[in-house]
Amino acid sequence: MSPVILEVTNPPSSAADHRPPEVVKPLFQGTGDTDYLCGNCGTVIASSMGPRQRVNVDVATCSACGAENKFPPNLLP
Ligand SMILES: [Zn+2]
Repeated sequence: MSPVILEVTNPPSSAADHRPPEVVKPLFQGTGDTDYLCGNCGTVIASSMGPRQRVNVDVATCSACGAENKFPPNLLP
């Protein structure tokens, strides 16, 4: 696995509900070998993405910390 840290575009508010990363499932699950991690807390947002796999959104809100993360251009359609 080669992790990629995503760029945070909108940090979470201090009132956000913080949950431990292990209870949070990735928003996207692929079949490759790259994990995309929240730039704020390190939770996996897109797991096991292959080089030809894409996500259908350009930003994703981390379900653990609430930070808004931007996906790199190579993940976009
Ligand atoms: Zn996070």
